[in-house]
Amino acid sequence: MSTNSSIVKSTSLKKGKEEQSPLKEFQEILQEAIQILRYPSEVYDFLKNPMRFLEVNIPIKMDDGTTKTFIGYRAQHNDATGPTKGGIRFHPDVTPEEVKALAGWMSLKCGITDLPYGGAKGGIVCDPRQMSMDELERLSRGYVRAVSQVVGPTKDIPAPDMYTNSQIMAWMLDEYDHIREFDSPGFITGKPLLLGGSKGRETATSLGVFYTIQLISQLQKLPMEGMRVIIQGFGNVGSYLAQYLHENGAKVVGISDVVGAVYNPEGLDIPYLLDRRDSFGVVSNLFRNSISNQELLEKECDILIPAAIGGVITKFNAERLQCKIVVEAANGPTTKEAIQILNEKKIMVVPDILANSGGVIVSYFEWCQNNQGYYWTEKEVEERLKEKMTTSFLKVFNTAKKYRVNMKIAAYIEGIQKIAEASRLRGWVKF
Ligand code: GLU
Repeated sequence: MSTNSSIVKSTSLKKGKEEQSPLKEFQEILQEAIQILRYPSEVYDFLKNPMRFLEVNIPIKMDDGTTKTFIGYRAQHNDATGPTKGGIRFHPDVTPEEVKALAGWMSLKCGITDLPYGGAKGGIVCDPRQMSMDELERLSRGYVRAVSQVVGPTKDIPAPDMYTNSQIMAWMLDEYDHIREFDSPGFITGKPLLLGGSKGRETATSLGVFYTIQLISQLQKLPMEGMRVIIQGFGNVGSYLAQYLHENGAKVVGISDVVGAVYNPEGLDIPYLLDRRDSFGVVSNLFRNSISNQELLEKECDILIPAAIGGVITKFNAERLQCKIVVEAANGPTTKEAIQILNEKKIMVVPDILANSGGVIVSYFEWCQNNQGYYWTEKEVEERLKEKMTTSFLKVFNTAKKYRVNMKIAAYIEGIQKIAEASRLRGWVKF
């Protein structure tokens, strides 16, 4: 039931024993981008935090008859360009700082991919693996009741994120429809097809990452055939991605899950692993000689794809990486300091807000289809996704060249301009 394989830790950027907040990382890179764009500091002051942040208490009846209070959050970064958009994660480590950073990253993703949205993100502090389906349903409905005033199809549109899926979206939609007393499929994306979901939404993030790798393969003259790839995470994103890469001739030499990792320089049997994977993406316990997640990151390969949690490539291991390119499929897997080290080692880092934007792109397609009441074929969805991924990638790639900055900073430069301009037009900031 996950969109990500690992439930051990989320997006707190681990720095040995101390932790750097993801919000701080977002703010530091944002400031750099804003300075390069020569916007005044008032623009930074306005955009460094979300415009709205809601914290709610959700009392839920548990199966054993007790009542438990869960904490939920919703951050809305900026709505100058349209309603805000972003997923809801269920995870024991969710913090306000993390949700605020993730909402900011969603604004940047929507800016880069030219979607008429600003960013948002929600989260509930819970461990879905310890909860029954009935408890999860009550929690999902309780969250919608608690935030119903600030969300809606033209206000703020939720979607799946870490450990939430189409079933949870279905319960949330049903609760919202009850509150509003009318059918409003555009309130939430990532829904089941029967309730107005879009074809291709389930695989959208992985397919977007795959298209990104295809582009890199052309631009860097690194053929897909025989390309050695390591994927950290075998959840929704990692597993579909492994399948696409395998089917297109790449050699997946390493994968990992929450338990451990497997590596074989000759290539792994991906169809077998996909077949044996459980619903939480666990598969490595099939192997006697499995290695740790951290060890896997340092193995030799052409492309390393962190596709699970945040903060896994830090200043403590960046020096030891042996890949040519890092493609960030997870949100926030590489710290700012690690990116600097990797740049010095001439390792290119393709940023999360570009590489994993396929999810929100197809969410946008889903919302458009809901608004029109007219549904597209899978082929149409995939073609439009490819077009958006290609345009966005080339924009960021060229911006990096133009300003002589890395792709992370270039992605922030591309991502922030529309929101800054729209905020200026609305009279919220002056420049
Ligand atoms: N949770 C996904 C992300 O981080 C998708 C968000 C959406 O579809 O709105 O991009």
